[in-house]
Amino acid sequence: MDDIQVAGQRQPKVANHGYLRTPKFIDRMATEIDFKTLTAHAKENGFIYQSSEIYDGLAAAYDYGPNGVLLKNNLKEYWWRSMVQLHDNIVGIDASIFMHPKTWKASGHVDAFNDPLIDNKDSKKRFRADVLIEDHMDKIEGKINKEVAKGLKRFGDDFDEAEFRATNPNVQRYVQQYDEIAKRLATAMTDGNMAELKQIIEDLGIADPDTGSKNWTDVRQFNLMFSTQLGNIAGEEGKLYLRPETAQGIFVNFTNVQKTTRQKLPFGIAQIGKAFRNEIVARQFIFRMREFEQMEMQFFIQPGTQQEWYEQWKEARMKWHLALHPQSKLRFHDHDNLAHYADAAVDIQFEFPFGFKELEGIHSRTDFDLGAHQELSGKKMQYFDPETKESYVPYVVETSIGADRLFLATLTHALMDEQVPGQDDPNNTRTVLKLHPAIAPVKAAIMPLKRNDDRLVNMAKDIFNDLRFRFEVQYDDTGSIGKLYRRQDAVGTPFCITVDFDSIEDGTVTVRDRDTLEQVRVKKEELAGMIGPRVGMGTLLRSAQ
Ligand code: ATP
Repeated sequence: MDDIQVAGQRQPKVANHGYLRTPKFIDRMATEIDFKTLTAHAKENGFIYQSSEIYDGLAAAYDYGPNGVLLKNNLKEYWWRSMVQLHDNIVGIDASIFMHPKTWKASGHVDAFNDPLIDNKDSKKRFRADVLIEDHMDKIEGKINKEVAKGLKRFGDDFDEAEFRATNPNVQRYVQQYDEIAKRLATAMTDGNMAELKQIIEDLGIADPDTGSKNWTDVRQFNLMFSTQLGNIAGEEGKLYLRPETAQGIFVNFTNVQKTTRQKLPFGIAQIGKAFRNEIVARQFIFRMREFEQMEMQFFIQPGTQQEWYEQWKEARMKWHLALHPQSKLRFHDHDNLAHYADAAVDIQFEFPFGFKELEGIHSRTDFDLGAHQELSGKKMQYFDPETKESYVPYVVETSIGADRLFLATLTHALMDEQVPGQDDPNNTRTVLKLHPAIAPVKAAIMPLKRNDDRLVNMAKDIFNDLRFRFEVQYDDTGSIGKLYRRQDAVGTPFCITVDFDSIEDGTVTVRDRDTLEQVRVKKEELAGMIGPRVGMGTLLRSAQ
């Protein structure tokens, strides 16, 4: 969920320095695919389509296709099982999207869920003032990284990055510029000072990125909640909001869940569900959408223990990400300014093709939400501690991640062009989606060597009809084997099973590994036992512990 500032702003995100791509990362044999190619790949391979495309699409709304929904469901399952199944003290709920409008008054969203809006008078385009400034800061960070990369090239193995950063005059100058802007931005956002945001934009000479125009309007507040109207009540009374976060459904159900599950503190409530935000600028594909899905867990604790739990959840969540993605792609980013009720907040950032950006937020939110609901509803939102014999409003540490951003992070990291393993010719390349087998949409594809031979087709279909009861499989005989392999590589299928003429004789089939391209002969009765454990969620869940 979001940090709602006293003065009505979302938290500014200010990147910290000190990150350098490791040479290993830069020199990878496989080439990471650029963003445009990635979005095209996602569409062509049935992962993501633009919403209502036949009407030229609706901005910032996307539909998940047949492979997309499988992958997204697997990611959600990975989150859900690691939260709910593997914790005795975390339970799940599924709250409704519509909530009593007072919910959003208490949570602060009605008054303060705002972004600073600025229009360009010439291009008539709208921007988030803070994002324009952050983009400018990203450019400065880019310059710092360029200097560091130059240093690395110059000094090779003797390169001491920390020393270089501390002494190089160019880096020092950029860092100073960056820090000054970061400080001004953070203060302006915390104070809700729209005039100062405009001043920063003017001082930095920031122009409309598309047209270069610097003809800006004043900056003003823009509430991000979508509203709709109840059918049977006219006017303000009947005004409802589409929830901008799932968390409030958890807070208002705190006492229901605690009483019905008899959980003792500390315990958590987890939920996956849709959230809606009227984002001013929605771009970067599924990174920023107006309708998206969140996976949130609110962990209720005794006041005074928040620091300890905050640290534990930070570590647990990073481990969870590291089971899927390499360390070089992930980093923590502490919030520079804290909202008045939060006593700690950090983002887990992922290196998307457009830079390090928030993937998940971990916030220590004190008793702000439960306290506010208690006050406005007049209903007790307390916990009776059987040990101390005291009642109190619990504190909360929350973890909040967007399922769509996780999807994008996963695609970004997994999709690559690489030289075909085992081949000398560097021009012999393939596009492959190296997803962890546990989250791959299809676990195995079964294909007959020839589609016009009934014996091969029947045997392949028998195998398919057996394996489909165990995990997601696909039968395909619509092309040559080489073509079918490439098609499965493109959607990340970890195993291809080919039925050939030997199969009819001896009951064995070829199993091809997506990553190594190694092929082994396996008895058809052994397929489930061989593939099942490698594509199941168990290994992934264990590696996140
Ligand atoms: P940002 O600063 O990027 O707008 P936020 O701080 O507003 O994010 P939170 O309110 O903390 O985000 O939401 C928790 C998570 O929900 C985010 O880490 C992100 O993964 C996801 N999320 C938030 N807004 C969007 C959106 N418009 N589209 C897709 N995912 C989103």
